[in-house]
Amino acid sequence: MRIAMFGAPGTGKGTQAEKLVGTFSVPQISTGDLLRAAVAEGSELGRKAKAAMDAGELVADEVVIEMIRERLAQPDAQDGFILDGFPRSIKQAESLDVMLERLEQPLEQVIHLEVEDEEIVQRLLSRGRDDDSEEVIRNRLQVFSNQTQPLINYYEDQGKLVSVDGTGDMQAIYDRIVKALDR
Ligand code: ADP
Repeated sequence: MRIAMFGAPGTGKGTQAEKLVGTFSVPQISTGDLLRAAVAEGSELGRKAKAAMDAGELVADEVVIEMIRERLAQPDAQDGFILDGFPRSIKQAESLDVMLERLEQPLEQVIHLEVEDEEIVQRLLSRGRDDDSEEVIRNRLQVFSNQTQPLINYYEDQGKLVSVDGTGDMQAIYDRIVKALDR
């Protein structure tokens, strides 16, 4: 299984990716988690990423692409993976395609979780992470629609996009995803 979870911040990509890991025994690869770990470590990469994360902007493409390249080379990613929060720009998607083509392991499907903006803001405000102030949340949504939304067409053109209703009960959403994967 080689898939990516796609959706605005707060659509539940991470939660659903985690549940999929339990069923399909492939690792979840979350750029958000990897970046937060780098920030906590105080590494050079972490220092580069922190300002962008605090402001709700995207971390530079080169930084996250290199991070993903290293992560995908790890032994546990050789039999598949669930990408969570990557790619988030056309540049990232194109680099990923090149990387995976070289390995002859193309991405199979992109699961697009759909949730309305106002519900997203409410969800994120109740989550209360450091970068979840209302102003930063609004900026993340703006960044999503400017830089990440274009990936919908990108993956639609490749015939890989599967849209799933991301509202309602967590288990119901999960069941919809698994059904979408079964097609
Ligand atoms: P969410 O999807 O809920 O916003 P994430 O944990 O996926 O949270 O991401 C947190 C922050 O990390 C983002 O706002 C962004 O600054 C940075 N980030 C995560 N993934 C990427 C990526 N693929 N490209 C650039 N920046 C990223």
